[in-house]
Amino acid sequence: MDQLAADRPRTDVGLRPSSYLGLPERFYQRAPLAPVAAPKLIKLNERLATEIGLDPKALASEEGVAILAGNASQPGVTPLALAYAGHQFGQFVPQLGDGRALLIGEAVAAGGRRFDVQLKGSGRTQFSRGADGRAGLGPVLREYVVSEAMAALGIPTARTLAAVSTGETVWRETPQPGAIVARVAASHLRIGTFQYFAARQDEEALRLLADHAIERHYPELRDDPERHLSLLKAVIAAQAQLVARWMLVGFIHGVMNTDNMTISGETIDYGPCAFMDAYHPATVFSSIDARGRYAYANQPNIAVWNLARLAETLLPLIDPDEDKAIEAAKEALSGFQAAYEEPFHAGVRRKLGLATEEPEDLALAADFLNLMAEDGVDFTLAFRALSDDAADDGARTRSLFTSVEDFDAWMARWRARIARESVGAADRAGAMRAVNPKYIPRNHRVEEVIRAAVDRNDFAPFESLVAVLARPFDEQPEHEEYVRPPAPEERVLRTFCGT
Ligand code: AMP
Ligand code: MG
Repeated sequence: MDQLAADRPRTDVGLRPSSYLGLPERFYQRAPLAPVAAPKLIKLNERLATEIGLDPKALASEEGVAILAGNASQPGVTPLALAYAGHQFGQFVPQLGDGRALLIGEAVAAGGRRFDVQLKGSGRTQFSRGADGRAGLGPVLREYVVSEAMAALGIPTARTLAAVSTGETVWRETPQPGAIVARVAASHLRIGTFQYFAARQDEEALRLLADHAIERHYPELRDDPERHLSLLKAVIAAQAQLVARWMLVGFIHGVMNTDNMTISGETIDYGPCAFMDAYHPATVFSSIDARGRYAYANQPNIAVWNLARLAETLLPLIDPDEDKAIEAAKEALSGFQAAYEEPFHAGVRRKLGLATEEPEDLALAADFLNLMAEDGVDFTLAFRALSDDAADDGARTRSLFTSVEDFDAWMARWRARIARESVGAADRAGAMRAVNPKYIPRNHRVEEVIRAAVDRNDFAPFESLVAVLARPFDEQPEHEEYVRPPAPEERVLRTFCGT
């Protein structure tokens, strides 16, 4: 009996062995832990922990924090670094993999849904390629703020479970306090995971991977006679839907490399991402995206390009006859356009407060955006002001524009259009406020939070921003200052991967 008690895990935070262990050893490395000097909890997302079946109390304990810092592992659970490849800015890299990340187990929610729990910044693995495997406090806080804001906006995304400081220094352009983020995702299967095995012509692994992906994300396809083609179609649909959601809130991912695009259709990898302030389709923030490959308006095109790379890897599974496989894959890819436009157009109508469909609606939306681009008007403010103006014939939106004559002409068209619907003004305004957020993680605010934490060890601004962004659609009159776009001197022009 004593023996049993001694073997029993001392701290069970609720993590379970990863399903990925059911796949052959060439899918991952059983990575050793790389302990840090002085782990300290910055923030634990208690609500998320509970939602996914973890124990927030145990996670906040000393032993729990050791697990979140990669200093210990949940007893009985082997940490894994996953293998993947990917196209980075169009260039194929046959081996990337978790070079600074560690899958520390799975969480199982009450309904049985499984989630990967992964540390980022947890130290070197066999995939580190000469880099340090660590992360700085800045990027860790950015990931916390932006991923949780995305979740509150209702956009499929990896979540943040916790942020931990390491008591160590990481060296980037300047020395930075080290930190580790624990993220939660439906899985970390990426297009790049398929590319890894396709590049090695390992058809057996591809088949196992595809079937694992189906079990995990699309179990309804299990008995589909064309399940691998159906998997491709399902991923196309999920990513089309995801990018449409990004576009509707002005989100720019920044590094849509194939290793950063998930099979589940969730947003992952919050590196140089940013929300657009002033609307312009060519907006780019990432310091490494000199040519604007991942500019705002290019995101749907890039998604299709990435999905074509996924399709290539699946050809041998789709049909032994290559010509037939290519034909089927092409047809599947041609479905992207409709899969993107349907939610995008529906979303645009909702943003304009339109409950019915008229042929001119999309032109009305495009003209509003063009006016915004010409006058450099803030995307989020404009749609929120229009929501408020819908209630009371106000002139809030007008006050944002400098070309008032053009704006007035547009507003007259919009007023005439909504007058043709039977929805009441208050209902319309309410519906618009439910899709046009008031609070987004504006870059200058994210920077401010990072500066306070990094330069002054002050986490109060971070806490405050996270709390405001948890209710993006609500009026929070005490937090009006978070609504304001950046003043010219506050504008953040470049964002960095920088982990
Ligand atoms: P990302 O830019 O986050 O998509 O990462 C691309 C690749 O670079 C992945 O294989 C990462 O694991 C690797 N990587 C990025 N930063 C580091 C780092 N500090 N240490 C080790 N590997 C890294
Ligand atoms: Mg990545």
